[in-house]
Order: sequence, then structure tokens, then C-alpha cells
Amino acid sequence: MKWKKNHRRGYSCILLAIIMIGGITLFFERAGSSFGRTVSTSLLFKLADSYQAGTIYDRNKTVIGRGVEIGKMEWGLEADAMDACSNLIGTPIQTTFASSYTVLGMAAPNLYGYYQNRFTNWKDWLFPRKRIGDDVTLTIDCAMQEEIYKTIKNFSNACVTVINYKTGEILAMVSVPTFDIRDEEALQLDENGVIDASYNNSAYMNKNLHATYMPGSTIKPILLAIALDAHPELKDFVYICEEGNHTFGNMTVDCFDGEFHGKMNLNDGIRLSCNGFAIAMSLEMSEEELEEGLKRWELDTAKQYENRFACDSSSFYGKGEHSQVNRILGSIGQGNCRVNIYELSSMYGAIFFNGIRKDPIFIQTENNTNSKETIVCTEETAKKLQKALISVVEEGTGASYCMKEEGIIVGGKTGTADVNLETGERTVWAVAGILEEDMPYVVTVCLADQGKEASGGTTAGPVMKEVLKKIVSKR
Ligand SMILES: [Zn+2]
Repeated sequence: MKWKKNHRRGYSCILLAIIMIGGITLFFERAGSSFGRTVSTSLLFKLADSYQAGTIYDRNKTVIGRGVEIGKMEWGLEADAMDACSNLIGTPIQTTFASSYTVLGMAAPNLYGYYQNRFTNWKDWLFPRKRIGDDVTLTIDCAMQEEIYKTIKNFSNACVTVINYKTGEILAMVSVPTFDIRDEEALQLDENGVIDASYNNSAYMNKNLHATYMPGSTIKPILLAIALDAHPELKDFVYICEEGNHTFGNMTVDCFDGEFHGKMNLNDGIRLSCNGFAIAMSLEMSEEELEEGLKRWELDTAKQYENRFACDSSSFYGKGEHSQVNRILGSIGQGNCRVNIYELSSMYGAIFFNGIRKDPIFIQTENNTNSKETIVCTEETAKKLQKALISVVEEGTGASYCMKEEGIIVGGKTGTADVNLETGERTVWAVAGILEEDMPYVVTVCLADQGKEASGGTTAGPVMKEVLKKIVSKR
């Protein structure tokens, strides 16, 4: 009897062992397939302490920077060009907790050898070699980056993004002020060795990715696209912009500078940026229709991007109540409405690309030449908006950056956001979409900390014109 019991126990042990081995094997197989998608910050710090960084190139194979020893980079560009790229590249990952808003953060797994197998050769066990991470190539065009930087560097707080709306590639992201990346000693660090994110108007930050701003009227085309998709018959919507016709619910909202625009249809409402038109048309949708549309455009939803790409989320209602007042204010890009500059550019990209929104490509790899795409509005709606946006630049509020003389078709939208009515602080915008086969670009100019005299058309518009001329001259 005793023998039999032991025997049975032995079998149970073997069975248990088989189940455990099976389980462990399965675990590693599962883990293996997702290995490489999320990399812990502590692992990146360890790798950065044992690997010399690889080289960072721009899209034309210009060297931006390269690791020269463990923990040390050498920067390859001349003064202005390097300053133009500094906060795009970012400060060392240890000073930002490996933030993925920068090149050093997003590309850290590549730059610090995460994808390399350290010990493929038996000799490496005996004679360890110098460990050098992989090289990365950005979609950024350094020459364009530098030209844009020279145009806006005297502003106290300004950003410009340029994307290719057909491929999703980011060609330039300039954020001023910037900092001297070559002078590591000058970094302002707190007691934990982390940079002060707000230092000098966020000079260490690429505010195109890591900030949000009040969009003013630049939000209107997105909102009207949602309305048109929900109710195609709104293409014929008419609003009479006159005294006494600016009260919605129990709220009165005037047009810019108290102007009255008269009889407004879709095209004129956008061309002249009539607040009354945008509010009245957006109130034609139900709350459910609006929220369904906001979700499609990824407003009020935190979007997850691939390849460690990160940017702050844009929102229509923000943390505010979904009340009529907030909806009216949101419809003209005021109240709680905030957008990220990269995301706004990408939303306009969808309008210019017939309703297709491309995910960003920032770091080039062999398999991401074509990024994920999402249909955010119908082609019919996109085409109607394109027509209206072209009239904005040819004979509307965006006339200051018309490119007809240069033979270039541009559509766009201006925006003037009253950030603080008491101080008169404004954020002003100009967005442009180039409608040329060989330059399918969206350019966004955002100037923050402006005074009450500033406006999208008169302040951001001329900056946009300079930027467009420089981009086009390289054609
Ligand atoms: Zn009006």
C-alpha cells in the first residue's frame, strides 16, 4: 500500500513539472512576441550607461549628432541649425525621465542598442567590445528647420510644424525659444537632476508636441466637417450675421472686432471666419452627433501612437461640463478647447487629403514608409472644406499668405484666441495646406504670448508667408 502511494506521488510530481515547463515556455513565447513594444525607463537608463549612442541623421543624411563615448554626444550642425533642432532632439534622457516627446526619448531603444544581441559571438564573452547603439534617421529636413528657425527666432514664444499630409512624415518642428544643446553645463536641473520644463518659456520643450494651446477659429473647419458629415444638407446652411442675431441660448457672442458679415453661406462663413455662422451651424447637430464626431477626430480621447511617438492630447470640452455654453465657446476655439500643434496640423492634413488622416512618421525605419491611416470625414465633406479654405487664403482672412503670385495653390485658416481678456493676451494662428502634387504639406504657425493688437491674419499670416516662400524656393 505504501509503495503504491509513493509511486502515485512520483507521477504527480512529473505531471506538475510538465505543466510548469509548458507554462513557462508559453509565457516566454507570449512575452517574446510583445518584447520590444514597451521598454522600461530604468532599462533605457541602464543601456544609456553601457552603450555609446548611435548617430542621428536628418532625412538627407546630414549628421545632427553622434555618440562619441558613453554618456557623451557630439553635435554636427552649425550654430543656427543646431539651435533650431535642440529642443526637438531634447536633453539627455536621464534629465527627462526618458520622455518620449524628444528624439533622444523616442529613439532611445535604437540609439542605446536595445535591439542588439550583445553576445552573438563567443569572443564577446571573453573580450567585450565597445558597445555602440544603432543609427537613426529622422524625417526632419534640417535645412527647412533652420530656415524656419531664422524666421521666428525673435518671437518670445512661437512654434511651426510642417508635415507631409500624404505620408504622415514630419518635416519640421521648430519651437522657440530654444537652448544651446552643446553647453551641457548650462542646463537648469532641479535637485533630482531633472530639467525645469517651464524654464524660459519652455525652451527645453518641443512645444509642437509637448504643449496645448487655445485654437481660436482654427477649430472651426474641424467642427464644420463633423456637422457636414452628420447632416450633409447643411452644405446649404445660411446664417444672417447682423445686430441682434448673435445670441445663442442665453449667451451672446460677437464676431471679431464686433463686425457684421451679413448673409453667410458655408464658403463665406469660413472665408470671413464668422463666429455666428460656426456656432449656429454646429448647434444644428445633436450632442451625440457632435461627440461621435469628436471621437473620430480624436478630440477628447487620448490617442496612442506607435513607435514611442508621443504628443499632448487635444480636446474640445477639456475637463469642462458638456453644457451648451461650453459647446458654443468650443465652436469658436475658446473656453476649455485646447489643441496640440502637431495634432491640429494632422487634422488639417486629413481635410487636404480628402478625409484620410495619416499617423505620424518621425523616425524612419524600413517598415514605416507608409503609416497607419484613419478616415475621419467623407471625401465630399473634405472637398467642400478644401474649397472654402482656398478662398480663405485667396480672398479672406488669410490673404496675407496668398501664394498665387508664386504659382502655388494654398488653402488655410487663421485663428485669434483670447487667452486672457483682462491682460489682452492672445494666441494667434495661421494654418496652410499646399495643394501641389510634389509638396503635399500642411504648415502651422502658432504665436503665443501676443498682445491685444495681434491677430491670426495680421500677425501669424506674414510669418506664414515667409515660411511658405522659403519652403517653395527649395522646390
Ligand atoms: Zn459674422
